[in-house]
Amino acid sequence: MQQSVAITPGRANSTRFVEIPDAPAPGSGEVRVRVLDVGIDGTDMELIAGHFGSPPPGSEFLVIGHECLGVIEQTGAGVALRPGDFVAAMVRRPDDCANCRAGSSDLCTTMKYTERGITSAHGFLTSHYTDRAEFVVRIPPELRSIGVMTEPWSVAAKAQRHAWEIQRRMIWSPTRALVMGAGSLGLLAAFLLRLRGLEVSVFSREPADSSRAKLLECAGVRYLTSLESKPGGEYDFVFEATGAPQLVIAGLERLRASGVMVVLGTGHDREPRPLALGPIATRLMINNQVLFGSVNSNRRDFEQTVVDLGEMERRWPGLIGAMFTRRAPFARFADVLQRGEEDIKVAIEVGA
Ligand SMILES: [Zn+2]
Repeated sequence: MQQSVAITPGRANSTRFVEIPDAPAPGSGEVRVRVLDVGIDGTDMELIAGHFGSPPPGSEFLVIGHECLGVIEQTGAGVALRPGDFVAAMVRRPDDCANCRAGSSDLCTTMKYTERGITSAHGFLTSHYTDRAEFVVRIPPELRSIGVMTEPWSVAAKAQRHAWEIQRRMIWSPTRALVMGAGSLGLLAAFLLRLRGLEVSVFSREPADSSRAKLLECAGVRYLTSLESKPGGEYDFVFEATGAPQLVIAGLERLRASGVMVVLGTGHDREPRPLALGPIATRLMINNQVLFGSVNSNRRDFEQTVVDLGEMERRWPGLIGAMFTRRAPFARFADVLQRGEEDIKVAIEVGA
């Protein structure tokens, strides 16, 4: 048996150690991975608060943890990865729709996928896991210390990729981006957009001398604690990563004509929010704007992330690593789950 951290989905603060059967030896096309680092994000905090999540069939608990860096211990037949290779794990496992079959389970249309550590499949806060090799992506050894950031970066990378694909509808040369929210996803999005050559502003409520603002400034990002409203908007692309759905309108109002805005930080907000839809619809129409949502990522985004994180280390060495405000050993995982105001990214060191 192997010790794991689990919750009872739907019940607040049910986090505890449980034992699950040892990860099996890998079959053909599979790998057995020893877990090294697991990152904690807003989705984990929502799971712990009992807002959503579902256990695997037949289980009353769900092992959490979906941002995982591990090391291959054993491979089955027909696998190109080797023992000792570092790997980041993808989260979603496909159903059987056309997108899933084409490798884009992030765009599943049946919504019957599973997600490790979130939806109907155990996650990675455990010592080992066995999975199909196509669901892990090799991380070069020089990215070992920040490899656990692969999954969250890939989520930002997918959202950006989709925005750019949508804009192939026209001649579009984006120069200015606004990221709303300076949580870890907002920071990663801002860095990614700097790598893509944009002028980037981040709007958030933390003071301008906060550690988050300073990290952003290292990469030449402008930090805003208030949002001006300029006629005609000033941003080609708006990336919402706030967790505050009411800010979607504020973002839309700062978008230039023919711009695109992506929503992915609002979490699982189900509050009824009164909203005057008329002006929003009119604004979208007369400006040819697109407002879209994005969730999850696929293998292509993970592979792009490996390139991006390498480029981050060349351009701004240590900047991604500086986002880790706390790392805790597995036995003390509960310490990390009590997040403080100053925490940007926390990780649990499951193995070494
Ligand atoms: Zn599907």
